[in-house]
Amino acid sequence: MSVLNPLKAPAGVRLALMGNEAIARGVIESGTYVVTGYPGTPSSEVLMTLHEYSEGLDLYAEWAVNERVAFEIALGASLGGARSLVTMKGPGFNVASDPILSAAYSGVNGGLTILVADDPGPITTQTEQDSRWYAKLSKLPMITPSSPQEAKDFTVVSQLLSEDVMLPVILRTTTRVNHAVSEVITGDVRPPKKYREFRKDPPRYVRAGMAWNLERHKWLNNQLKTVEGLVRKYGLNKVWGEGSSCVVVEGVSYNYVMEVLSRVESWERKIRVVKVDVLYPIPRNFLLDSLSGCKEILVVEELDPYLEESIKALLQDQDLRIKVFGKLSGYLPLEGELNTRVVSQAVSRILGHEVAEPYHDGMIKDLEVPTRPPPLCPGCPHRNSYIAMLLGIAKAGYKRDEIPVFGDIGCYALSVNPPLNAIWTEHSMGASISMAMGLKVGGFDKPVIATIGDSTFFHAGIQPLIEAVNKRVDLLVLVL
Ligand code: SF4
Repeated sequence: MSVLNPLKAPAGVRLALMGNEAIARGVIESGTYVVTGYPGTPSSEVLMTLHEYSEGLDLYAEWAVNERVAFEIALGASLGGARSLVTMKGPGFNVASDPILSAAYSGVNGGLTILVADDPGPITTQTEQDSRWYAKLSKLPMITPSSPQEAKDFTVVSQLLSEDVMLPVILRTTTRVNHAVSEVITGDVRPPKKYREFRKDPPRYVRAGMAWNLERHKWLNNQLKTVEGLVRKYGLNKVWGEGSSCVVVEGVSYNYVMEVLSRVESWERKIRVVKVDVLYPIPRNFLLDSLSGCKEILVVEELDPYLEESIKALLQDQDLRIKVFGKLSGYLPLEGELNTRVVSQAVSRILGHEVAEPYHDGMIKDLEVPTRPPPLCPGCPHRNSYIAMLLGIAKAGYKRDEIPVFGDIGCYALSVNPPLNAIWTEHSMGASISMAMGLKVGGFDKPVIATIGDSTFFHAGIQPLIEAVNKRVDLLVLVL
Protein backbone atom coordinates (compact mmCIF):
# COMPACT_ATOMS: atom_id res chain seq x y z
CA MET A 1 0.00 0.00 0.00
CA SER A 2 1.24 3.45 -0.86
CA VAL A 3 1.82 6.02 1.91
CA LEU A 4 -0.61 8.33 0.06
CA ASN A 5 -4.34 7.75 0.41
CA PRO A 6 -5.03 5.98 -2.91
CA LEU A 7 -8.55 7.39 -3.14
CA LYS A 8 -7.58 11.01 -2.48
CA ALA A 9 -4.26 11.26 -4.36
CA PRO A 10 -4.35 13.85 -7.16
CA ALA A 11 -4.11 12.89 -10.83
CA GLY A 12 -0.72 12.00 -12.26
CA VAL A 13 0.70 10.45 -9.08
CA ARG A 14 2.57 7.12 -9.23
CA LEU A 15 1.35 4.77 -6.52
CA ALA A 16 2.27 1.18 -5.68
CA LEU A 17 -1.18 -0.42 -5.56
CA MET A 18 -2.63 -3.89 -5.34
CA GLY A 19 -5.04 -4.64 -8.19
CA ASN A 20 -8.04 -4.42 -5.87
CA GLU A 21 -6.82 -1.10 -4.43
CA ALA A 22 -6.46 0.13 -8.01
CA ILE A 23 -10.07 -0.86 -8.73
CA ALA A 24 -11.12 1.11 -5.64
CA ARG A 25 -9.24 4.10 -7.06
CA GLY A 26 -11.06 3.45 -10.36
CA VAL A 27 -14.35 3.69 -8.46
CA ILE A 28 -13.45 7.25 -7.46
CA GLU A 29 -12.07 8.22 -10.89
CA SER A 30 -15.21 6.92 -12.62
CA GLY A 31 -17.62 8.92 -10.48
CA THR A 32 -19.20 5.76 -9.08
CA TYR A 33 -21.46 6.55 -6.13
CA VAL A 34 -22.89 3.19 -4.95
CA VAL A 35 -20.59 0.20 -4.30
CA THR A 36 -21.90 -3.06 -2.90
CA GLY A 37 -20.53 -6.57 -2.64
CA TYR A 38 -20.17 -9.76 -0.67
CA PRO A 39 -16.67 -10.69 0.53
CA GLY A 40 -14.78 -13.51 -1.13
CA THR A 41 -11.14 -13.94 -2.08
CA PRO A 42 -9.81 -12.60 -4.41
CA SER A 43 -12.31 -9.71 -4.65
CA SER A 44 -12.63 -8.48 -1.05
CA GLU A 45 -10.01 -5.71 -0.91
CA VAL A 46 -11.98 -3.42 -3.23
CA LEU A 47 -14.64 -2.66 -0.63
CA MET A 48 -12.11 -2.93 2.21
CA THR A 49 -10.03 -0.18 0.57
CA LEU A 50 -13.10 1.99 0.05
CA HIS A 51 -14.14 1.56 3.68
CA GLU A 52 -10.64 2.31 4.98
CA TYR A 53 -9.78 5.36 2.91
CA SER A 54 -13.03 7.04 1.84
CA GLU A 55 -13.78 9.12 4.93
CA GLY A 56 -15.02 12.51 3.75
CA LEU A 57 -15.69 11.32 0.18
CA ASP A 58 -19.22 11.37 -1.23
CA LEU A 59 -19.66 7.61 -1.64
CA TYR A 60 -22.09 4.88 -0.52
CA ALA A 61 -20.21 1.59 0.06
CA GLU A 62 -21.63 -1.45 1.84
CA TRP A 63 -21.19 -5.17 2.35
CA ALA A 64 -24.50 -6.80 1.44
CA VAL A 65 -25.96 -9.98 2.89
CA ASN A 66 -25.15 -11.89 -0.32
CA GLU A 67 -24.14 -11.27 -3.93
CA ARG A 68 -27.69 -11.33 -5.24
CA VAL A 69 -28.80 -8.60 -2.85
CA ALA A 70 -25.61 -6.68 -3.58
CA PHE A 71 -26.32 -6.76 -7.32
CA GLU A 72 -29.96 -5.78 -6.91
CA ILE A 73 -29.00 -2.75 -4.78
CA ALA A 74 -26.49 -1.71 -7.45
CA LEU A 75 -29.12 -2.23 -10.17
CA GLY A 76 -31.73 -0.14 -8.34
CA ALA A 77 -29.20 2.66 -7.91
CA SER A 78 -28.33 2.47 -11.60
CA LEU A 79 -31.97 2.62 -12.71
CA GLY A 80 -32.21 5.92 -10.85
CA GLY A 81 -29.16 7.19 -12.73
CA ALA A 82 -26.43 6.61 -10.13
CA ARG A 83 -23.20 4.95 -11.20
CA SER A 84 -22.80 1.72 -9.24
CA LEU A 85 -20.39 -1.18 -8.93
CA VAL A 86 -20.83 -4.59 -7.32
CA THR A 87 -18.00 -6.95 -6.29
CA MET A 88 -18.00 -10.73 -5.93
CA LYS A 89 -15.81 -13.78 -6.40
CA GLY A 90 -16.61 -16.30 -9.13
CA PRO A 91 -19.10 -18.48 -7.22
CA GLY A 92 -20.81 -15.27 -6.08
CA PHE A 93 -21.79 -14.71 -9.70
CA ASN A 94 -23.73 -17.98 -9.52
CA VAL A 95 -25.71 -16.55 -6.60
CA ALA A 96 -26.36 -13.25 -8.40
CA SER A 97 -26.96 -14.73 -11.84
CA ASP A 98 -30.78 -14.72 -11.67
CA PRO A 99 -31.19 -10.93 -11.41
CA ILE A 100 -28.14 -10.35 -13.63
CA LEU A 101 -29.72 -12.22 -16.56
CA SER A 102 -32.97 -10.27 -16.17
CA ALA A 103 -31.04 -6.99 -15.95
CA ALA A 104 -29.64 -7.65 -19.43
CA TYR A 105 -33.20 -7.23 -20.75
CA SER A 106 -34.07 -4.20 -18.60
CA GLY A 107 -30.77 -2.42 -19.19
CA VAL A 108 -29.30 0.29 -16.98
CA ASN A 109 -29.28 4.09 -16.76
CA GLY A 110 -26.30 4.97 -14.57
CA GLY A 111 -23.20 2.90 -15.36
CA LEU A 112 -23.20 -0.48 -13.63
CA THR A 113 -20.05 -2.59 -13.37
CA ILE A 114 -20.07 -6.17 -12.09
CA LEU A 115 -16.60 -7.07 -10.81
CA VAL A 116 -16.19 -10.85 -10.82
CA ALA A 117 -12.87 -12.20 -9.54
CA ASP A 118 -12.02 -15.74 -10.62
CA ASP A 119 -9.50 -17.96 -8.88
CA PRO A 120 -7.51 -20.23 -11.19
CA GLY A 121 -5.43 -22.66 -9.18
CA PRO A 122 -7.73 -22.75 -7.30
CA ILE A 123 -6.14 -20.93 -4.37
CA THR A 124 -9.13 -20.30 -2.09
CA THR A 125 -12.21 -21.41 -4.04
CA GLN A 126 -14.23 -24.61 -4.29
CA THR A 127 -13.99 -24.83 -8.09
CA GLU A 128 -11.89 -23.37 -10.91
CA GLN A 129 -14.97 -21.63 -12.28
CA ASP A 130 -14.34 -19.60 -15.43
CA SER A 131 -16.89 -16.81 -15.22
CA ARG A 132 -16.21 -15.69 -18.80
CA TRP A 133 -18.94 -18.12 -19.85
CA TYR A 134 -21.42 -15.95 -17.94
CA ALA A 135 -20.84 -13.15 -20.43
CA LYS A 136 -22.10 -15.41 -23.22
CA LEU A 137 -24.95 -16.73 -21.09
CA SER A 138 -26.16 -13.34 -19.91
CA LYS A 139 -25.25 -11.52 -23.17
CA LEU A 140 -23.47 -8.80 -21.21
CA PRO A 141 -20.26 -7.07 -22.35
CA MET A 142 -17.15 -8.28 -20.51
CA ILE A 143 -13.70 -6.69 -20.34
CA THR A 144 -10.59 -7.96 -18.56
CA PRO A 145 -7.48 -6.16 -17.26
CA SER A 146 -3.97 -7.64 -17.11
CA SER A 147 -2.39 -5.40 -14.44
CA PRO A 148 -3.28 -3.11 -11.54
CA GLN A 149 -2.96 -0.10 -13.89
CA GLU A 150 -5.46 -1.63 -16.29
CA ALA A 151 -7.64 -2.74 -13.37
CA LYS A 152 -8.06 0.93 -12.47
CA ASP A 153 -8.37 2.19 -16.02
CA PHE A 154 -10.80 -0.54 -17.08
CA THR A 155 -13.00 0.19 -14.06
CA VAL A 156 -13.46 3.67 -15.50
CA VAL A 157 -13.95 2.31 -19.03
CA SER A 158 -16.51 -0.24 -17.88
CA GLN A 159 -18.65 2.49 -16.31
CA LEU A 160 -18.49 4.67 -19.43
CA LEU A 161 -19.15 1.71 -21.73
CA SER A 162 -22.06 0.64 -19.53
CA GLU A 163 -23.72 4.01 -20.08
CA ASP A 164 -22.86 3.97 -23.81
CA VAL A 165 -24.54 0.62 -24.35
CA MET A 166 -27.09 0.89 -21.48
CA LEU A 167 -26.09 -2.53 -20.13
CA PRO A 168 -24.25 -3.77 -17.05
CA VAL A 169 -20.60 -4.43 -17.98
CA ILE A 170 -18.71 -7.31 -16.40
CA LEU A 171 -15.14 -6.58 -15.29
CA ARG A 172 -13.51 -10.01 -15.03
CA THR A 173 -10.28 -10.44 -13.09
CA THR A 174 -8.19 -13.32 -11.77
CA THR A 175 -6.28 -13.62 -8.50
CA ARG A 176 -2.91 -12.60 -9.97
CA VAL A 177 -4.39 -9.28 -11.13
CA ASN A 178 -6.45 -8.67 -7.99
CA HIS A 179 -3.52 -9.33 -5.68
CA ALA A 180 -0.51 -8.22 -7.75
CA VAL A 181 1.12 -4.97 -6.63
CA SER A 182 2.61 -2.64 -9.23
CA GLU A 183 2.91 0.99 -10.18
CA VAL A 184 -0.37 2.72 -10.97
CA ILE A 185 -0.59 6.26 -12.33
CA THR A 186 -3.67 8.01 -11.04
CA GLY A 187 -6.12 9.80 -13.32
CA ASP A 188 -8.62 12.60 -12.92
CA VAL A 189 -11.45 12.12 -10.46
CA ARG A 190 -15.01 12.55 -11.70
CA PRO A 191 -17.71 13.87 -9.35
CA PRO A 192 -19.97 11.05 -8.09
CA LYS A 193 -22.97 10.44 -10.31
CA LYS A 194 -26.03 10.11 -8.06
CA TYR A 195 -29.80 9.78 -8.50
CA ARG A 196 -31.28 11.82 -11.37
CA GLU A 197 -34.70 10.35 -12.17
CA PHE A 198 -36.57 7.05 -12.39
CA ARG A 199 -39.44 6.95 -14.89
CA LYS A 200 -42.24 4.38 -14.86
CA ASP A 201 -41.71 2.16 -17.94
CA PRO A 202 -43.25 -1.34 -17.47
CA PRO A 203 -42.28 -2.77 -20.91
CA ARG A 204 -38.68 -2.07 -20.00
CA TYR A 205 -38.61 -2.95 -16.31
CA VAL A 206 -41.34 -5.58 -15.83
CA ARG A 207 -40.29 -9.07 -16.91
CA ALA A 208 -43.79 -10.53 -16.48
CA GLY A 209 -44.88 -9.59 -20.02
CA MET A 210 -43.70 -12.18 -22.55
CA ALA A 211 -44.23 -9.90 -25.57
CA TRP A 212 -42.21 -7.23 -23.77
CA ASN A 213 -39.48 -9.79 -23.04
CA LEU A 214 -39.25 -10.74 -26.71
CA GLU A 215 -38.87 -7.07 -27.65
CA ARG A 216 -36.26 -6.52 -24.96
CA HIS A 217 -34.30 -9.53 -26.22
CA LYS A 218 -34.22 -7.94 -29.68
CA TRP A 219 -33.11 -4.68 -28.09
CA LEU A 220 -30.33 -6.52 -26.21
CA ASN A 221 -29.04 -8.18 -29.38
CA ASN A 222 -29.00 -4.82 -31.16
CA GLN A 223 -27.10 -3.18 -28.30
CA LEU A 224 -24.45 -5.90 -28.45
CA LYS A 225 -23.83 -5.15 -32.13
CA THR A 226 -22.63 -1.67 -31.15
CA VAL A 227 -20.05 -2.76 -28.56
CA GLU A 228 -17.08 -3.45 -30.85
CA GLY A 229 -17.42 -0.01 -32.41
CA LEU A 230 -17.90 1.69 -29.04
CA VAL A 231 -14.82 0.19 -27.37
CA ARG A 232 -12.45 1.58 -30.03
CA LYS A 233 -12.57 5.03 -28.44
CA TYR A 234 -11.35 3.51 -25.17
CA GLY A 235 -8.26 1.96 -26.78
CA LEU A 236 -9.14 -1.61 -25.84
CA ASN A 237 -7.68 -4.62 -27.76
CA LYS A 238 -4.07 -4.21 -28.87
CA VAL A 239 -1.39 -5.79 -31.08
CA TRP A 240 2.42 -5.91 -30.71
CA GLY A 241 4.96 -7.37 -33.13
CA GLU A 242 4.64 -8.29 -36.79
CA GLY A 243 5.58 -11.97 -36.96
CA SER A 244 3.46 -14.65 -38.57
CA SER A 245 3.39 -16.83 -35.44
CA CYS A 246 0.55 -15.28 -33.48
CA VAL A 247 -0.14 -15.46 -29.76
CA VAL A 248 -3.57 -14.42 -28.53
CA VAL A 249 -3.64 -13.40 -24.85
CA GLU A 250 -6.10 -12.00 -22.34
CA GLY A 251 -5.82 -10.84 -18.73
CA VAL A 252 -2.84 -12.00 -16.72
CA SER A 253 -1.76 -14.38 -19.51
CA TYR A 254 -0.41 -11.31 -21.33
CA ASN A 255 2.23 -10.90 -18.59
CA TYR A 256 3.37 -14.53 -18.76
CA VAL A 257 3.74 -14.30 -22.54
CA MET A 258 5.63 -10.99 -22.48
CA GLU A 259 7.98 -12.28 -19.79
CA VAL A 260 8.73 -15.36 -21.89
CA LEU A 261 9.21 -13.27 -25.06
CA SER A 262 11.70 -11.04 -23.23
CA ARG A 263 14.04 -14.06 -23.61
CA VAL A 264 13.57 -14.24 -27.40
CA GLU A 265 15.85 -11.96 -29.39
CA SER A 266 13.95 -9.63 -31.75
CA TRP A 267 10.73 -11.46 -30.96
CA GLU A 268 8.70 -8.72 -32.64
CA ARG A 269 9.89 -9.98 -36.04
CA LYS A 270 8.85 -13.57 -35.35
CA ILE A 271 5.80 -13.22 -33.12
CA ARG A 272 2.63 -11.16 -33.11
CA VAL A 273 0.93 -10.70 -29.73
CA VAL A 274 -2.80 -10.04 -29.95
CA LYS A 275 -4.23 -8.87 -26.62
CA VAL A 276 -7.99 -9.29 -26.30
CA ASP A 277 -9.37 -6.93 -23.65
CA VAL A 278 -13.01 -7.34 -24.67
CA LEU A 279 -14.05 -10.93 -23.98
CA TYR A 280 -17.70 -10.48 -24.97
CA PRO A 281 -18.98 -9.82 -27.52
CA ILE A 282 -15.96 -11.41 -29.21
CA PRO A 283 -14.30 -8.57 -31.20
CA ARG A 284 -14.66 -10.26 -34.60
CA ASN A 285 -13.36 -7.42 -36.76
CA PHE A 286 -10.37 -6.77 -34.50
CA LEU A 287 -9.47 -10.46 -34.46
CA LEU A 288 -9.84 -10.91 -38.22
CA ASP A 289 -7.67 -7.82 -38.86
CA SER A 290 -5.00 -8.64 -36.31
CA LEU A 291 -4.80 -12.36 -37.15
CA SER A 292 -4.58 -11.73 -40.89
CA GLY A 293 -1.43 -13.39 -42.30
CA CYS A 294 -0.84 -15.60 -39.25
CA LYS A 295 0.41 -19.06 -40.16
CA GLU A 296 -0.49 -20.44 -36.73
CA ILE A 297 -2.15 -19.15 -33.59
CA LEU A 298 -1.38 -19.98 -29.96
CA VAL A 299 -4.10 -18.96 -27.48
CA VAL A 300 -2.92 -18.35 -23.91
CA GLU A 301 -5.76 -17.79 -21.45
CA GLU A 302 -7.10 -18.65 -18.01
CA LEU A 303 -8.91 -20.91 -17.49
CA ASP A 304 -11.11 -22.73 -20.01
CA PRO A 305 -10.50 -22.66 -23.79
CA TYR A 306 -13.03 -19.84 -24.09
CA LEU A 307 -11.12 -17.67 -26.59
CA GLU A 308 -9.63 -20.70 -28.31
CA GLU A 309 -13.10 -22.04 -29.16
CA SER A 310 -14.32 -18.59 -30.21
CA ILE A 311 -11.34 -18.04 -32.52
CA LYS A 312 -11.71 -21.49 -34.08
CA ALA A 313 -15.39 -20.78 -34.75
CA LEU A 314 -14.56 -17.37 -36.21
CA LEU A 315 -11.88 -18.78 -38.55
CA GLN A 316 -14.18 -21.58 -39.67
CA ASP A 317 -16.96 -19.09 -40.30
CA GLN A 318 -14.60 -17.14 -42.58
CA ASP A 319 -13.23 -20.27 -44.32
CA LEU A 320 -9.76 -19.44 -43.00
CA ARG A 321 -7.50 -22.45 -42.52
CA ILE A 322 -5.12 -21.44 -39.74
CA LYS A 323 -4.00 -23.94 -37.09
CA VAL A 324 -5.04 -22.89 -33.58
CA PHE A 325 -3.16 -24.29 -30.58
CA GLY A 326 -3.90 -23.94 -26.90
CA LYS A 327 -5.64 -25.99 -24.27
CA LEU A 328 -7.65 -28.14 -26.67
CA SER A 329 -4.48 -29.13 -28.55
CA GLY A 330 -2.67 -30.02 -25.32
CA TYR A 331 -0.12 -27.19 -25.67
CA LEU A 332 -1.38 -25.74 -22.38
CA PRO A 333 -3.09 -27.41 -19.40
CA LEU A 334 -6.86 -27.42 -18.99
CA GLU A 335 -6.55 -27.18 -15.21
CA GLY A 336 -4.64 -24.96 -12.81
CA GLU A 337 -2.96 -21.58 -13.18
CA LEU A 338 -0.63 -20.81 -16.04
CA ASN A 339 2.96 -19.81 -15.30
CA THR A 340 6.02 -18.83 -17.29
CA ARG A 341 7.22 -22.43 -17.38
CA VAL A 342 4.21 -23.87 -19.23
CA VAL A 343 3.90 -20.76 -21.39
CA SER A 344 7.59 -20.95 -22.42
CA GLN A 345 7.05 -24.59 -23.44
CA ALA A 346 4.02 -23.66 -25.57
CA VAL A 347 5.84 -20.70 -27.18
CA SER A 348 8.83 -22.99 -27.88
CA ARG A 349 6.53 -25.33 -29.81
CA ILE A 350 5.18 -22.66 -32.14
CA LEU A 351 8.62 -21.08 -32.63
CA GLY A 352 10.22 -24.46 -33.34
CA HIS A 353 13.09 -23.90 -30.92
CA GLU A 354 13.43 -23.91 -27.17
CA VAL A 355 12.77 -20.71 -25.26
CA ALA A 356 14.34 -20.75 -21.82
CA GLU A 357 11.93 -20.38 -18.95
CA PRO A 358 12.47 -16.93 -17.49
CA TYR A 359 13.41 -16.77 -13.87
CA HIS A 360 15.12 -13.94 -12.21
CA ASP A 361 18.63 -13.82 -10.83
CA GLY A 362 18.58 -14.83 -7.21
CA MET A 363 15.33 -16.78 -7.52
CA ILE A 364 15.66 -20.30 -6.16
CA LYS A 365 14.44 -22.75 -8.79
CA ASP A 366 12.88 -26.14 -8.13
CA LEU A 367 13.02 -25.76 -4.36
CA GLU A 368 11.23 -28.65 -2.67
CA VAL A 369 8.93 -27.11 -0.08
CA PRO A 370 6.96 -29.54 2.08
CA THR A 371 3.20 -29.04 1.78
CA ARG A 372 0.93 -28.78 4.81
CA PRO A 373 -2.80 -28.18 5.10
CA PRO A 374 -3.80 -24.67 6.21
CA PRO A 375 -4.73 -24.62 9.92
CA LEU A 376 -7.29 -22.61 11.87
CA CYS A 377 -5.54 -19.58 13.40
CA PRO A 378 -4.10 -19.99 16.91
CA GLY A 379 -6.91 -19.12 19.31
CA CYS A 380 -9.66 -19.44 16.68
CA PRO A 381 -12.95 -19.96 18.56
CA HIS A 382 -14.20 -22.43 15.92
CA ARG A 383 -11.70 -24.98 17.22
CA ASN A 384 -13.42 -25.06 20.63
CA SER A 385 -16.88 -25.19 19.03
CA TYR A 386 -15.95 -28.32 17.11
CA ILE A 387 -14.24 -29.90 20.12
CA ALA A 388 -17.44 -29.31 22.13
CA MET A 389 -19.52 -30.82 19.32
CA LEU A 390 -17.30 -33.92 19.12
CA LEU A 391 -17.41 -34.33 22.91
CA GLY A 392 -21.21 -34.04 22.72
CA ILE A 393 -21.35 -36.80 20.10
CA ALA A 394 -19.30 -39.06 22.38
CA LYS A 395 -21.40 -38.15 25.43
CA ALA A 396 -24.56 -39.10 23.54
CA GLY A 397 -23.09 -42.57 23.07
CA TYR A 398 -22.11 -42.37 19.40
CA LYS A 399 -18.77 -43.04 17.78
CA ARG A 400 -17.19 -40.02 16.09
CA ASP A 401 -17.81 -41.23 12.53
CA GLU A 402 -21.35 -42.44 13.20
CA ILE A 403 -22.89 -38.95 13.17
CA PRO A 404 -22.62 -37.04 9.86
CA VAL A 405 -21.47 -33.43 10.26
CA PHE A 406 -22.29 -31.19 7.30
CA GLY A 407 -19.93 -28.23 6.97
CA ASP A 408 -20.30 -24.97 5.10
CA ILE A 409 -18.22 -22.30 3.36
CA GLY A 410 -15.82 -20.42 5.61
CA CYS A 411 -12.64 -20.80 7.68
CA TYR A 412 -14.34 -23.38 9.88
CA ALA A 413 -14.24 -25.81 6.94
CA LEU A 414 -10.59 -26.24 7.98
CA SER A 415 -12.01 -28.42 10.75
CA VAL A 416 -11.92 -31.16 8.09
CA ASN A 417 -8.16 -31.44 8.76
CA PRO A 418 -6.45 -33.27 11.64
CA PRO A 419 -6.67 -33.23 14.55
CA LEU A 420 -10.39 -32.31 14.45
CA ASN A 421 -11.38 -34.31 11.33
CA ALA A 422 -14.84 -32.92 12.05
CA ILE A 423 -16.87 -32.13 8.92
CA TRP A 424 -17.94 -34.63 6.26
CA THR A 425 -18.99 -32.19 3.53
CA GLU A 426 -18.42 -28.60 2.43
CA HIS A 427 -20.27 -27.80 -0.76
CA SER A 428 -21.70 -24.34 -1.39
CA MET A 429 -22.99 -21.38 0.60
CA GLY A 430 -25.76 -22.52 2.98
CA ALA A 431 -25.78 -26.13 1.78
CA SER A 432 -24.95 -27.64 5.19
CA ILE A 433 -28.53 -27.34 6.46
CA SER A 434 -30.34 -28.40 3.28
CA MET A 435 -27.99 -31.34 2.66
CA ALA A 436 -28.37 -32.48 6.28
CA MET A 437 -32.15 -32.25 5.82
CA GLY A 438 -31.88 -34.29 2.63
CA LEU A 439 -30.02 -37.08 4.41
CA LYS A 440 -32.74 -37.24 7.06
CA VAL A 441 -35.72 -37.18 4.69
CA GLY A 442 -33.92 -39.81 2.62
CA GLY A 443 -34.19 -42.21 5.55
CA PHE A 444 -31.05 -41.79 7.70
CA ASP A 445 -32.19 -42.64 11.23
CA LYS A 446 -29.45 -41.25 13.49
CA PRO A 447 -28.82 -37.63 14.47
CA VAL A 448 -27.41 -35.31 11.80
CA ILE A 449 -25.51 -32.09 12.47
CA ALA A 450 -25.12 -29.00 10.26
CA THR A 451 -22.42 -26.44 11.11
CA ILE A 452 -22.54 -23.01 9.50
CA GLY A 453 -20.82 -19.67 10.14
CA ASP A 454 -22.92 -16.61 10.91
CA SER A 455 -22.18 -14.76 7.65
CA THR A 456 -22.91 -17.88 5.59
CA PHE A 457 -26.09 -18.38 7.64
CA PHE A 458 -27.36 -14.90 6.71
CA HIS A 459 -26.12 -15.32 3.11
CA ALA A 460 -27.92 -18.56 2.23
CA GLY A 461 -28.57 -20.56 5.41
CA ILE A 462 -31.78 -18.97 6.64
CA GLN A 463 -33.99 -20.34 3.84
CA PRO A 464 -32.84 -23.97 4.36
CA LEU A 465 -33.47 -23.58 8.10
CA ILE A 466 -37.01 -22.31 7.38
CA GLU A 467 -37.47 -25.32 5.08
CA ALA A 468 -36.29 -27.77 7.76
CA VAL A 469 -38.47 -26.22 10.46
CA ASN A 470 -41.49 -26.03 8.14
CA LYS A 471 -41.13 -29.73 7.26
CA ARG A 472 -40.41 -30.61 10.91
CA VAL A 473 -37.12 -32.35 10.15
CA ASP A 474 -35.07 -33.18 13.25
CA LEU A 475 -31.62 -31.59 12.81
CA LEU A 476 -28.99 -30.10 15.06
CA VAL A 477 -27.84 -26.81 13.49
CA LEU A 478 -24.79 -25.08 14.98
CA VAL A 479 -24.43 -21.44 13.91
CA LEU A 480 -20.79 -20.57 14.54
S1 SF4 B 1 -12.45 -17.49 11.83
FE1 SF4 B 1 -10.82 -17.76 10.30
S2 SF4 B 1 -9.65 -15.85 10.36
FE2 SF4 B 1 -10.90 -15.92 12.22
S3 SF4 B 1 -9.55 -16.83 13.75
FE3 SF4 B 1 -10.73 -18.52 12.85
S4 SF4 B 1 -9.45 -19.30 11.18
FE4 SF4 B 1 -8.63 -17.30 11.77
